[in-house]
Amino acid sequence: MSKMEDRVSVEGVHGPPGSLERLLFRRRTLLCKPTSHRENTNKEEHPIDELDQATILTIQKIEFNLDRKRACELRRVQGAIERWERGTYGRCAVCDEPIEKRRLLVVAETEFCLDCKQTLERREHEYSH
Ligand SMILES: [Zn+2]
Repeated sequence: MSKMEDRVSVEGVHGPPGSLERLLFRRRTLLCKPTSHRENTNKEEHPIDELDQATILTIQKIEFNLDRKRACELRRVQGAIERWERGTYGRCAVCDEPIEKRRLLVVAETEFCLDCKQTLERREHEYSH
């Protein structure tokens, strides 16, 4: 009669404890629209025509890029959560070796061990030249 319903099975999972919680928290944070800072200011009261068109376009561009970055991160976090559910979390996607726990504590959503990550980055660096 153990209360297992609200606990995620860690069978076959190689991540350090708390990884899933941190991933879920990150996902929740990323899914929240970053509007709170606007709601907290009274600057919204000013009529929009006080800003010139160029400023508005710049702001929209920044927000667009921010969303792209967030979308990218969200995809990585989501992927890590799915790997956790499949029981493959904490294993390198390239060499299938367990990823260093210290590394998982820093980048919980990573799918590569340090060696493979460095190899990939080196390769990317070479290709970009
Ligand atoms: Zn690897």
